Amino acid sequence: MRISGTHVYYYFVCKRKLWCFSKAIRMEHLDENVQLGKLLDESSYSRDAGQVMIDETVNIDFIRDWKVLHEVKKSRAIEEAGIWQLKYYIYFLREKGIAIENGIIDYPKLRRREEVILTESDVARLKEVMADIEKITTQQKSPKLEEKPICKKCAYFEYCFV
Ligand code: SF4
Repeated sequence: MRISGTHVYYYFVCKRKLWCFSKAIRMEHLDENVQLGKLLDESSYSRDAGQVMIDETVNIDFIRDWKVLHEVKKSRAIEEAGIWQLKYYIYFLREKGIAIENGIIDYPKLRRREEVILTESDVARLKEVMADIEKITTQQKSPKLEEKPICKKCAYFEYCFV
């Protein structure tokens, strides 16, 4: 299967969300938080904007000099997921022979940025994550519901709780 950055991101956010996304259950268009994220992407970084889709699999916010990947996030609420998503992009492009040095997560609303690097142990962990994503997304049933603080803001809230 093609594993996208969104698969990796959702893997760290919620396995059930990952499963819903993989089954093409789409409710994001209804979700205000997703819309805010899109607006932010369009306005705060308009001069650098221009998402880069590679191999129809990873969708990068922008790349500087084919060396530094940038990902824009609106908050640090699910920071770990954003970091692993960017590590996956670095891994994916290096596998394609592009010598990406590092990544930067930009938080324009917070006026902050964070550097992300990919280590050997990260690559080993990513390989486990990729195998796990494949397992979860080919399951017939959704992973069991585990309530989390982010559920109230999740686009799949109605699917899970109503
Ligand atoms: S509402 Fe909660 S349990 Fe359901 S998919 Fe979203 S984060 Fe996961």
